[in-house]
Amino acid sequence: MKIKLTVCTLLIVLITVSVQAAVNQPIVATPKAKAFFRDNQLWTLTLNTKTHKYELPVCWENLATISDTVHHPTWKQRRINTLNYANTAWGDVTNFTTNPTGNGSASLIYFADKGTCPLASVSFSGIRILVSSTATLQTPIGNLPPPYTKALGKNLTNLVYGVVLDFDMIKNQIYTRNDAKFIGCKAQSISEENCFKAVVIHEFGHVLGMSHEQNRTDEPLVYQRLSCGANDPSPVLGQLIFGNLRIGAYDNQSIMAYCNPNRLKSPVLSVIDKVALRVFYARMPSVSFDLGYPVITIPVVLTGSTRAPKSMTLSDPTNTGKYTYVFSLASTATKSSVAATYLNGVLTIPFLKKTSFGKVIGIQKRTMTLSYIINKFRNTSLTDLYTAQGQ
Ligand SMILES: [Zn+2]
Repeated sequence: MKIKLTVCTLLIVLITVSVQAAVNQPIVATPKAKAFFRDNQLWTLTLNTKTHKYELPVCWENLATISDTVHHPTWKQRRINTLNYANTAWGDVTNFTTNPTGNGSASLIYFADKGTCPLASVSFSGIRILVSSTATLQTPIGNLPPPYTKALGKNLTNLVYGVVLDFDMIKNQIYTRNDAKFIGCKAQSISEENCFKAVVIHEFGHVLGMSHEQNRTDEPLVYQRLSCGANDPSPVLGQLIFGNLRIGAYDNQSIMAYCNPNRLKSPVLSVIDKVALRVFYARMPSVSFDLGYPVITIPVVLTGSTRAPKSMTLSDPTNTGKYTYVFSLASTATKSSVAATYLNGVLTIPFLKKTSFGKVIGIQKRTMTLSYIINKFRNTSLTDLYTAQGQ
């Protein structure tokens, strides 16, 4: 059965809101800039020296009203669950003591609960979440109920009511609605908590800079938004903030795709969601040819049978196949959730990001001997698993 999703969960509108009331702003749409990540809105985060993670602060606009112990589950618990769901799906929940490199985590990001938001006039370096069932978003097609996110990535920085979640999911239309346009969680026998989890994971995808998958310009016709049931009469109105960087082909398993039939039922990141996440937030191994010759930079390579973490740089300055490579001690600042391994002369790089002057242009999976790299590794030897293209 095809899931039909409403605009409200997923609508991203260029709009600013005062503390008192939402105010419509002129709509700015860039019709060609559709897709996946919006790479100029990615977060630039600093490493927390205690957790060794890239901390993205989260605060609550109305914490006092969500600290009750009346609801079941309590909203106090739901606040905790929000961060748990977001971190487990998108972030680094590994323990630095037992996993100092962060290897295997989804990214190096950690959404950190900072409690009550400061006043709107006070700058906050992260995202501001409002919990409300009634704070509608004013749009040209009418007022839309929560949940929604108003911007992508770092454009949410200090944005008042930037993310609006509804803790009272059992009354929310994502849970209750069941009609030709949208089959909600209840009709799919999805529990209220799992429904809430699905919403949280999707919205935090927007928080990290991800746009809706179905808005890619290379989206197959069958997956266009109207066919997926978004109650949006105009392709111009539905998603006004688009990505500008496509990674891989259209991915209907993406948590950001309306047409993903399991998005509410089984809210997990797709393979390409994870790859894309790591490309931007995991400090993965990368290769560039910006200097006219290949330079491979590996933040963490686990060496020998003891898997001692080191950093590694390989380059061929003469462009003649005479690579030099340098190991250096990996510090705690050189975490990578995509660590390479080097054992008995074999260098295994789980994923290799190809960049051109700071822009990601491809992703590859490589297992290769050091001698292969030294003797044969060339630009032409790179075959992309996924191609990243701006649009
Ligand atoms: Zn969305």
